[in-house]
Amino acid sequence: MLIDTHAHLDMEEFERDREAVLLRALQSGVGHIITIGIDLPSSRKAIEIADKHDHIHATVGYHPHHADEVNTSALRELGDLAQSPKVVAWGEIGLDFFRLHSSPQNQVKAFERQLDIAREVGLPVVIHVRDAHKELIEILKGRGSLSGGVIHCFSGDYETAGVFMDMGFSISIPGTVTYKKAAYVREVAAKIPLGRLMVETDAPFLAPVPFRGKRNEPAFVKFTASEIARLRGIDFEALAEATTKNAQTLFKLTDIL
Ligand SMILES: [Zn+2]
Ligand SMILES: [Zn+2]
Repeated sequence: MLIDTHAHLDMEEFERDREAVLLRALQSGVGHIITIGIDLPSSRKAIEIADKHDHIHATVGYHPHHADEVNTSALRELGDLAQSPKVVAWGEIGLDFFRLHSSPQNQVKAFERQLDIAREVGLPVVIHVRDAHKELIEILKGRGSLSGGVIHCFSGDYETAGVFMDMGFSISIPGTVTYKKAAYVREVAAKIPLGRLMVETDAPFLAPVPFRGKRNEPAFVKFTASEIARLRGIDFEALAEATTKNAQTLFKLTDIL
């Protein structure tokens, strides 16, 4: 069994055939999916979807792209939503200095505030970071301990992965590991300790080979897992078992599987 630790099931790309997508995931051995909030409406919808399915859990948070929209009352409402039994993490939060959909100043402020809230409510964090690894690491170091977390869709190099692991984070590998030119992520997926590794789709984005360029969906996480197993020279089952256990532990999913 595999766990897709990061999908955006609420997005409009799944509006027409969400139930079929979820069925295909189950049929492909994806026994669990974490659906990720990126702002207040999507966090609400993530919980709604999770409420309808035993094998789906949700997160709540403001993605760095939406940092300009963050305000106190929205964060308070997210804090209330986080009390739902289906919410297993706070995120995705972080810094994205590649696209700059929100100003760097607001991204930093929103990230710091949400780290503090995640600590208060005792949830692990799901972190998004693009072209801002150095800045993000500085903030994490200055912010004190958390209830664990994962760097999702990891895009840094092996050394950077080591810095995050030293701080207690897991590393989640997306479908880009199947792209032959993605040297960093392939090296990280091959070399980091199995006990820190998780797999994700980031669906509907970043479909793995052989579906690159198409809409991604949780069923496709098996292509990512099998490429990682191949890179590491281990059985698919061993990779699936380890990544599933890591996700169960971080998101405290043990009681429902
Ligand atoms: Zn992300
Ligand atoms: Zn995402």
